[in-house]
Amino acid sequence: MSQDLMTENLHLRKQLSQLLHQAQQNQQILQRHQAIDLELIGAGSFLELIDTIFHAFAGSAGLDVATLLLLDPDYAIRRILVELNVHLSELPQLLFLQDESEIGELSAHLANPVLGIYSEQLHGLVFPEPLSPPASVAIVPLIRRGTLIGCLGLGSNDPARFATHMSTDFLAHMASIVAICLENVINTERLKHIGLTDPLTGVNNRRYVERRLLEEIGRSQRHGYPLSCMYIDIDRFKQINDRIGHQAGDEVLRDVAGRIKAELRLSDALGRFGGEEFVVLLIDAQADDAVNVAERIRRSVGEQPILLGSGEQLPVTVSIGVASLESARENEPIEKTLQKFLARADQALYQAKNGGRNRVVADS
Ligand code: GH3
Ligand code: MG
Ligand code: MG
Repeated sequence: MSQDLMTENLHLRKQLSQLLHQAQQNQQILQRHQAIDLELIGAGSFLELIDTIFHAFAGSAGLDVATLLLLDPDYAIRRILVELNVHLSELPQLLFLQDESEIGELSAHLANPVLGIYSEQLHGLVFPEPLSPPASVAIVPLIRRGTLIGCLGLGSNDPARFATHMSTDFLAHMASIVAICLENVINTERLKHIGLTDPLTGVNNRRYVERRLLEEIGRSQRHGYPLSCMYIDIDRFKQINDRIGHQAGDEVLRDVAGRIKAELRLSDALGRFGGEEFVVLLIDAQADDAVNVAERIRRSVGEQPILLGSGEQLPVTVSIGVASLESARENEPIEKTLQKFLARADQALYQAKNGGRNRVVADS
């Protein structure tokens, strides 16, 4: 072979090897993207999805920060998440706005991903304190059925990471998957919420309170704080129903549920256990505190008659049994502790009824 051909051959081999190397790298990137797609699609809950976005995706894309801003008119999403016990204050990367107009100047650019050097004025909203502002950003709109539902904020400390001229195909693809997955997990959470809610009163149902009780008993055992629960039962409700009718009876249930709820903290749990019986779970409350709350509830129901749709003012009272779990017994299965705990509150309620009703009795 002539020297020229040898040189050309060598040159071609080198090019081929570079192309192969490039192809292998592209293959790896593709596989990483596919793995992230699968992880996003596989997320079974809202928390799992945002964890995938904030950690798995951000890590694999080499980002320094990722945020998710959601448009949530009427607080519909936030309300469901709070009721499902998601602590939004612990998620600084998850942001909510009421309305698209609050996005400000950025809104006009959001038909496509917005890339470039970070500007406080334009992008600050997507990377608020306590997050530290990145050097360059990509703000990727999330669109479902032609409507903006929010945006992803991707930030890097490298000013050259997101430049205005860069291709945004991958980001747009990722955003369409995230938007579908979001809609899906929000619907799942909504269903979960419906399955744990009493349709008549809007408070939680028995299933929810029992589940919370299992979690909270475990947590209080680990952290050593007291738990209290109360059984609340409307007095002579059968007579109320018989006299004013079942539908007005339902009005009474709704009103009483509202008055109980108004006396509780956000961290407490309230459920209708069936009929005219409610159970309240008070977190980090010992017997004295629980009796005080129970007294407040008793007074709040009994002191003001309930105004019915018919215009009638109906006096209603409740009896309440309270039990507390100061330090749970070790080695006892949580289910057993739960049953005994509820049974003690139920027994105290029985005493309150026997004692003449419209009163609070604490299990001793
Ligand atoms: P006590 O003071 O001993 O608690 O007497 P009570 O009449 O409240 O107790 P009892 O358990 O005998 O009656 C409960 C009544 O609640 C019986 C039932 O008709 C009524 N009830 C159960 N579920 C509902 C409901 O969803 N709506 C209405 N309106 N009434 C209900
Ligand atoms: Mg009753
Ligand atoms: Mg009853």
